[in-house]
Amino acid sequence: MRAHPGLAEIERARAAIAGRVRRTPARLSPRLAERLGVPVVLKHEHEQITGAFKLRGATNALANLSEDERARGVVTVSTGNHGRALAHAAREAGVRCVVAMSRLVPGNKRDAIAALGAEIAIHGASQDEAQEEVDRRVAEGGLVEIPPFDHPDVIAGQGTLGLEIVEDVPDLAQVLIPLSGGGLAAGVAAAVKAKRPHARIVGITMERGAAMHASLAAGRPVLVEEAPSLADSLGGGIGLANRHTFPMLRDLMDEVVLLTEDEITLGMAFCHVAEGVMVEGGGAVGPGAILAGKVRPIGPTVALLTGANVDPAQHARIVSDPEILERLA
Ligand SMILES: *Cc1c(COP(=O)(O)O)cnc(C)c1O
Repeated sequence: MRAHPGLAEIERARAAIAGRVRRTPARLSPRLAERLGVPVVLKHEHEQITGAFKLRGATNALANLSEDERARGVVTVSTGNHGRALAHAAREAGVRCVVAMSRLVPGNKRDAIAALGAEIAIHGASQDEAQEEVDRRVAEGGLVEIPPFDHPDVIAGQGTLGLEIVEDVPDLAQVLIPLSGGGLAAGVAAAVKAKRPHARIVGITMERGAAMHASLAAGRPVLVEEAPSLADSLGGGIGLANRHTFPMLRDLMDEVVLLTEDEITLGMAFCHVAEGVMVEGGGAVGPGAILAGKVRPIGPTVALLTGANVDPAQHARIVSDPEILERLA
């Protein structure tokens, strides 16, 4: 097994992806600062190409393939943002890409991935069944699997966000990181703790089906039942055979905050109303946690806005709901 990525791998990733991903803006949020009582900076990573930070990890993983692996092509299972990122990065690199999905993945997401030139393999009625198709393509077709989070090059790529954050906010006291499989949190934590050892790493996720939270509490990777959530990009397990993100976060994460669906909704609406940006549910949990009073005011705080890929009709419903607008007034 390869070692966990650290600062050296993250700095190499930054050089490898330079010019292929955006350095996204960091902007003060006066309203959240007023609410929390300390400076709050939002990292607008939802403005990343393909609409989510996942392009960083996917681009770095492709950059690290050997000539032979590039010739064979890549494959992943995905329900959305990672598949889109890998499809984009593979097209840029001229590498064949297959994205396996279950029948349940919505048509608009399927179409977005296909539009980037990836081959779509529909298999089964769950993420686990779609994974069987990935295993088959690896075994029979020689494709190289680039998984969504538990891979050293993917984690190092996501960690480049951590380097940007400590440059954007040198006196950083804590970072609020949307949390699912933990590739983002592990990478950002490795970079931030190397540069600012006293900064706190706070993972934020939904109450229902919080696999990493349950696993950290149990002391080993555990299965949780998946439930539908407005934060759909935070769903899914961490893998019972997890190699990297679980042990890294066991060592590096200071706290996990859980949000209700109502608190996630408020975070999304806040991003639209107060910040003028369209952020998906999973990307808006940082503001949601601050508004819910679940974040401690220990000093300058960065909240990562991680993705923009929300169904427009669902977004429109939320940001025009008078009851929600009233609560934000
Ligand atoms: C994937 C994703 C996350 C969570 O990232 P992990 O590395 O799986 O923890 C958060 N926000 C968005 C928008 C995502 O697509």
